[in-house]
Amino acid sequence: MKLLMCKRCKCVIVLSLEKKCCACGKSGGAYVNEIVVVVHGPAIVIGMNNSDLHDALDAGNNEHRAIRAWKMGRRGDSVRWVRSAQLIGADDYLKQTTLDVEKMVKEELE
Ligand SMILES: [Zn+2]
Repeated sequence: MKLLMCKRCKCVIVLSLEKKCCACGKSGGAYVNEIVVVVHGPAIVIGMNNSDLHDALDAGNNEHRAIRAWKMGRRGDSVRWVRSAQLIGADDYLKQTTLDVEKMVKEELE
């Protein structure tokens, strides 16, 4: 599972196939398949260990469980950063070539 946390408004959203934005509207994103997310804005993407999450869901209400999470780097294979105007639907995103995506990521980082 991936979450997106906006650095401006501190809003945390659960990324899904539906496009979502944070409370201030500066950051947002969506999954384009089961693994890859497309995101934009002044934010970080937080990956959560799915096995830990399932264990926590199965645990009793009074049990504490650790859930591992990590900040995902901008160059990861499963996170694609784009400018906000280019946050598009999964079908459109998947039609783009790798070169298009790499160009957008490069421009976003400059
Ligand atoms: Zn925000």
